[in-house]
Amino acid sequence: MNNIFVYCEIEDGQVAEVSLELLTKGRSLANELKCKLEAIAIGHKLDGVEKQVMPYGVDTLYLADDKRLYPYQTLPHTSIVVKLFEEQKPQIAFMGASSIGRDLGPRVSSALHSGLTADCTSLLIGDHYDKKADKKYENLLYQIRPAFGGNIIATIINPDCRPQMATVREGVMKKEILDPKYKGKVVNLDVSKYVSDSDFVVEIIERHMEKSKLNIKGAPIIVAGGYGVGSKENFRLLNELAEVLGGEVGASRAAVDAGYVEHERQIGQTGLTVRPKLYIACGISGQIQHRAGMEQSAQIIAINTDPEAPINSIADYVITGDIADIIPKMIKYYKKNTK
Ligand code: FAD
Repeated sequence: MNNIFVYCEIEDGQVAEVSLELLTKGRSLANELKCKLEAIAIGHKLDGVEKQVMPYGVDTLYLADDKRLYPYQTLPHTSIVVKLFEEQKPQIAFMGASSIGRDLGPRVSSALHSGLTADCTSLLIGDHYDKKADKKYENLLYQIRPAFGGNIIATIINPDCRPQMATVREGVMKKEILDPKYKGKVVNLDVSKYVSDSDFVVEIIERHMEKSKLNIKGAPIIVAGGYGVGSKENFRLLNELAEVLGGEVGASRAAVDAGYVEHERQIGQTGLTVRPKLYIACGISGQIQHRAGMEQSAQIIAINTDPEAPINSIADYVITGDIADIIPKMIKYYKKNTK
């Protein structure tokens, strides 16, 4: 019951961002627990994956390379991960809360009777005292996420079953290289021992990927609008400000639901997680589900008519007033004072 495992998603030979973020988190938790960090990559033509993951401090990388394993398929990937986990008995396992992780995670945890906490926003190590059983558990994974519609932040623990499994959405954890020359070992799995013919009952005939042209996650400045913006037309003001500042427009769910702006721009628990240098929240109240996606921004400016709006408590600068008055002034003075 030793190590921490990360399932690495592969697309066209590239390890997914979310997997690299989880490796970063896994490495720091492994240091705390004084255990090893292991990774599994499943697919085809996996040469080069090693170079991508080792710098994140991976001690052992398991590769399952077979033509039939790319693109992702539920059954063979589940069989490989379940068998590998049965052999290696990790104490903790992470997957991205992506479409792959959301498909694979529950199947693996169900097969291993381990339980799974989806969409964690924070992962820590801690102890737990069970009063009833008068028993102390040490070094458990605190799987932290909003619950009950975001009204509470729940810390979920799994004292008895292993692995302690969690999924995390892309962008929630930071990605950080540990050592570009980190030396881990590579174990090539004999795929035939992990899968059977019945795992290949599905054949993928064609795949079509629609790539978004938006790059909100990479934008240094985000001007985000909420329900308080009032209409699709008013969002033009935000577009103008974003353009002047060289940023992107984001939105709260209420603004998306009201049809002011497209869903791709939604920030928060069920949207994107962003960490720009500057986040300007316009007419956004700052409910926990929205904050989950933006509170790690370096600087936050809140513009709101309500001086008591919850967003103000996490803002570096608060402007109390109507966006219809304030944003044109911001555009005007920014233009005036910038060469
Ligand atoms: P409101 O809460 O209606 O706030 C509008 C704000 O605008 C108010 O503070 C008001 O004072 C201010 N205002 C009004 N007029 C003006 C004006 N003229 N000028 C300036 N300020 C003005 N929400 C998300 O954003 N992202 C998510 O990913 C997300 N996921 C969710 C997941 C779940 C499971 C649930 C239950 C909810 C989720 N929500 C999410 C919804 C969230 O709870 C809030 O309902 C939502 O964030 C509110 O959006 P808002 O702040 O734009 O609207």
